[in-house]
Amino acid sequence: MPEFSEHQPQPGDTVGACAHVIQTQLTTGDWGAAHWFQSTDATLGCIGPDGQTKKVQMDWMVLCPACFVKYRNDWSKAPLAGFTTWESTEPIVQVSGEN
Ligand SMILES: [Zn+2]
Repeated sequence: MPEFSEHQPQPGDTVGACAHVIQTQLTTGDWGAAHWFQSTDATLGCIGPDGQTKKVQMDWMVLCPACFVKYRNDWSKAPLAGFTTWESTEPIVQVSGEN
């Protein structure tokens, strides 16, 4: 039985994901068998409305099983390909680790 953490994204949290998770979400509409990490370190560069690149800090990281295995010893270095803002309507998640 999976254990569900009491910790999960709150509405407004920034959730970053690897490209594989993003692809799964685009094609199936859900997060798939992803691993969730509560993070205070991970950042993702993105281009703001002013055209300048800036770093966005992730509250959470979501990795596919392959990225989880590859980066499990230093998951803060896992490549994030995009992010979203968590909404209250989304389901509870299982948390794989915490920073
Ligand atoms: Zn991945």
